[in-house]
Amino acid sequence: CGGAHRTDVHLDVTRRHVTVTAPGKVNLSLRVGPLREDGYHSVASLYLAVNLVETVTAVGRADGEITVGPSHRHSSAVAAADVPWDESNLAHRAATLLRERVGLDPALHGADIEIAKQVPVAGGMGGGSADAAGALVACSALWETGLTRTELAELAAELGADVPFAVVGGAAVGRGTGAEVMSVPARTPVHLVLVPAAGGLSTPEVFGALDRLREEGTLATPDGAPEINEDALRALTSGDPLALALAMDNDLQTPAVALYPELSDALDLGLDEGALRGMVSGSGPTLLFVARDAIEAERIASALTERTGAEALAVHGPVHGATVL
Ligand code: ATP
Repeated sequence: CGGAHRTDVHLDVTRRHVTVTAPGKVNLSLRVGPLREDGYHSVASLYLAVNLVETVTAVGRADGEITVGPSHRHSSAVAAADVPWDESNLAHRAATLLRERVGLDPALHGADIEIAKQVPVAGGMGGGSADAAGALVACSALWETGLTRTELAELAAELGADVPFAVVGGAAVGRGTGAEVMSVPARTPVHLVLVPAAGGLSTPEVFGALDRLREEGTLATPDGAPEINEDALRALTSGDPLALALAMDNDLQTPAVALYPELSDALDLGLDEGALRGMVSGSGPTLLFVARDAIEAERIASALTERTGAEALAVHGPVHGATVL
């Protein structure tokens, strides 16, 4: 028995592994065009990667199996039960797609993908997308595919609208269905407070609610594909938090609040505590508040934690995209 135990340990130590961090994101602007005939919406988005990151480790397997599971090496802020640990997991899909496209032998190249999550699930912060980006970069290094970052970002677009940005990170504008991202310079950090909300909101449901509100005339329907919010972009690149706070917008805020009315009071609370502006992040229900600086962000986060009972987090961006540790 002792002998078998030693063999297991020996195998585990010698299995190659690669660990990657990949950031969650907020949308400082999210403009959504009308529902297109193909069932998608054109978006114009201003993304910021924040220092709330997923840690994805790919451990090599020589039997071609791909598995996903919670990490035992790094701690997670998310309950493992909230995540689908099967083939529907975006990280699993990313590894499978990569292996197929590179033409690696599926009987020989496998990986156990271990994920430590910090980004709230279904919170509108692209956590699943970050896991997919992390898995792409980690498996690409593990299997020595030789793919460039640009090639990985192109593959990422096939997995979901927010995956390319999680590969690239930093700050970027995204157009179309979200897959085309272009990095923009933002040298001064933006300090934010994030307030996760229990339960989550499904992104397709929020888009559906937006379509309904537009159909019934409660919200105006834009003419065509939306434009990038140039005011927010300028404020971000010049590092002016007040101008950024004033310019931010999110077309998904009204439908998200309609589906989750408690968000409205939580937005007021943040302003009450001195945030420059509050907004729904992406499709919600996570809220983001802009703070003047890091100290203010910390102060607002503790005040909101006390008043809401939800764990508010002071974060900043931009941070790097998927990075091998
Ligand atoms: P987005 O804003 O990119 O639409 P989100 O941040 O609101 O997404 P995610 O946490 O990415 O939401 O997950 C949305 C759903 O995707 C989850 O409810 C879950 O069923 C599924 N999912 C697939 N893979 C993952 C993953 N690795 N982590 C979390 N959820 C995942």
